[in-house]
Amino acid sequence: MSSRKPFIAGNWKLNKNLKEVLAFLDQIDGKLPSEDKVEVAIAAPAMYLVPLVHHRGKNPLKVAAENVYFKNSGAFTGETSPQSLADEGVEYSIIGHSERREYFHETDEDINKKAHALFEVGVTPILCCGETLETFEAGKTAQWVSNQIEAGLKGLSAEQVSKLVIAYEPIWAIGTGKTATAEIADETCGVVRSVVEKLYGKNVSEAVRIQYGGSVKPETVAELMSKENIDGALVGGASLVADSFLGLLDIY
Ligand code: PEP
Repeated sequence: MSSRKPFIAGNWKLNKNLKEVLAFLDQIDGKLPSEDKVEVAIAAPAMYLVPLVHHRGKNPLKVAAENVYFKNSGAFTGETSPQSLADEGVEYSIIGHSERREYFHETDEDINKKAHALFEVGVTPILCCGETLETFEAGKTAQWVSNQIEAGLKGLSAEQVSKLVIAYEPIWAIGTGKTATAEIADETCGVVRSVVEKLYGKNVSEAVRIQYGGSVKPETVAELMSKENIDGALVGGASLVADSFLGLLDIY
């Protein structure tokens, strides 16, 4: 266990309706662990960010967008601006989730622009990286993930990167029920940290928080979180039901 504050974030993807969002908030009300021990967030579809911010009450729950555009205004029909997230009190935004890279053809360059645009308005990026099964089986994970991180961080300052959250999510473990072993997850999170160290030095690499994501469940979270280089989790499926979301936080 490291000295960095753990950060557990749910990623609802394109799930839930408004009634379910409000019911979820009701079910977790007063049950989240203290902010001194762990930071907790939910990433929700854009339309539910405002209700989450307005109805989270006194719960220590941060709100995250699942995606954002890198411009604040202009002829970009259908996009969400970083400024609008900041204006509404959204604290984080996921960028570069593998589903966005695969289905919406987002490139490392787009993702880097999003990181810059978010920092400019004071919203913290959760920068995702991760390899396919083919890359994993070919033993090329470290190189792949290092390239994604280097490209994602391009031009960011040391101060910005020390606030950043990075999520290592092997694509073969997302939504498949196959969690990477805690050893594999820790090893690759360690690779990510060493890339940050190479680029920004030890102080920054010791500050940056690195989450693991990929079929994390209440039964698997404790072992993963006990590892030196893993500072939290980005959780899809198990974050959808309030009881299992709370179950992920039982260790705190
Ligand atoms: C994710 O969507 O980022 C994720 C890790 O999903 P799951 O926990 O369902 O694998």
